[in-house]
Amino acid sequence: MQDHRIRSVVIVGGGTAGWMTAAALVQHFRSTPVSITLIESSEIGAVGVGEATIPTIRRFYAQLGMTDDAVMRATQATCKLGIRFLDWSAPGSDFIHPFGHYGQDVRGTGFHHYWLKQRQAGDDTPLAAYSLGAALAAAGKFALPAPNPPTQLSVFDWALHFDAALFAQHMRAYAEAGGCTRIDARIRSVEQRPEDGFIRAVTLDDGREVEGDLFVDCSGFRSLLLGEALGVRFEDWGRWLPCDAAFAVQSRNRPGDAPAPFTRVTARSAGWQWGIPLRHRAGNGLVFSSAHLSDDQVLAELMPHLLGDPLTEPRRIPFRPGRRAQAWSRNCVAIGLSAGFLEPLESTSIALIETGVARLKQLFPDRRFAPAVIDEYNDQSAREMERVRDFIILHYKLNRRTDSAFWRDCREMTVPDTLQRKIDLWTARGEFVRYRWEMFHPASWLAIYDGFGVHPDDYDPAVDAMTPADLERGLRDMRDNIARLVASTPDHAQYLAALDRGQ
Ligand code: FAD
Repeated sequence: MQDHRIRSVVIVGGGTAGWMTAAALVQHFRSTPVSITLIESSEIGAVGVGEATIPTIRRFYAQLGMTDDAVMRATQATCKLGIRFLDWSAPGSDFIHPFGHYGQDVRGTGFHHYWLKQRQAGDDTPLAAYSLGAALAAAGKFALPAPNPPTQLSVFDWALHFDAALFAQHMRAYAEAGGCTRIDARIRSVEQRPEDGFIRAVTLDDGREVEGDLFVDCSGFRSLLLGEALGVRFEDWGRWLPCDAAFAVQSRNRPGDAPAPFTRVTARSAGWQWGIPLRHRAGNGLVFSSAHLSDDQVLAELMPHLLGDPLTEPRRIPFRPGRRAQAWSRNCVAIGLSAGFLEPLESTSIALIETGVARLKQLFPDRRFAPAVIDEYNDQSAREMERVRDFIILHYKLNRRTDSAFWRDCREMTVPDTLQRKIDLWTARGEFVRYRWEMFHPASWLAIYDGFGVHPDDYDPAVDAMTPADLERGLRDMRDNIARLVASTPDHAQYLAALDRGQ
């Protein structure tokens, strides 16, 4: 029988995507004769942003045998319980999208229906009072979640803010220790087989050729292999996501400033500003629409609101929202920015790298590259990215700001049908459409609908089985329970100090 197994994988690019892919593949193929080579150019460098994550990152590195403490120490990380949205719904509005969960379901009916009924009766207790994750974040507190939560009320999850360059280095150390070969060189050209266009090799600046069976394109926005060499079309999503550039700048922490356990995202006149607290510095930036704001205007909005004092010159990063029509073509799979990009509002790019790598491991091909395998990979990747796209568009669509044409246009745009269906079901019946390959669960959608003040007219009639007095008592008990848990949790800064002491 002929052996069709893949023997050599060549990863092009050594940013977060390249080194995460290398680390995961080295571990997956340990003790097998599959060679992993990564080519990166230290002259070109990596994009160097990408510092806010979602909890799946912790599952990713746990699979490599890395602990939270080790990764946090290696990457100057802080803990993240969610995202705080300031001025989004309207100037002055403020809410947290936590990693977690609201209240307790009762007799199979979702908690939010009970809350909606009480709200309609005039109770204006914010939804966040029923979420341990949101309440901890608002109070600047942090402790690890209980391993076996006694009730739904104790459930929350957490992620990291980390230094992107240190995280890539950490992944690199793991990959190289596991046998990945690193080549520091610029790729000059891509060599394709004349008969079928498959990639045979890449040629480096010094003339060397690096051959491979499978190529993973982690070359960033340029999409050197999938986009440039194989000509896979870019699907532009700019009609729904008008921001097309960012300025990024690092800042120095001020003495005594306690890092918040959340990412801060503040709406500005034609975009939004991020603030990501790290141990040794902070990451800041403003994502904007270049059709609405000049660079000078952006800097005037960004610089007065940094988390601390400026440490670097602001760097302009242009981008196009969208994705390659296929993430996998012939013998080339794109992972990371080379496959597509959605603005970092919900910190999803690194998570999409994780799922891309997981999918590649699960559908790992042989040298026959069966179309069924490639089609499945492409279908899953497309659906997943469209779901994330819709979730991000939701933040723009629901805004009620009246201060600029940008926000008015966003509110009035026609959104994709897949999203409109979700908004319609929520407003009609307070329920959630659940497609396959969703990265964000109903609690996240609830957080955003509520944060933007969009509520259904009605609630699930099953809730009426509970008397108003029981409903009021039940909700008060949940709130009290959460308030007690928050009161007994240390500050985030104390948690980090204990981590430093190795406790
Ligand atoms: P890059 O970092 O650009 O790496 C590309 C690699 O390819 C480099 O090593 C480069 O040297 C190499 N390369 C390119 N051309 C050649 C060549 N010819 N020869 C040899 N090597 C070559 N994601 C999040 O999850 N959370 C966030 O908070 C977040 N914030 C972001 C903010 C902004 C403004 C932007 C633009 C992105 C953000 N992202 C975020 C996305 C995140 O930065 C990326 O997903 C992540 O860094 C992965 O990038 P990459 O590895 O695909 O590309």
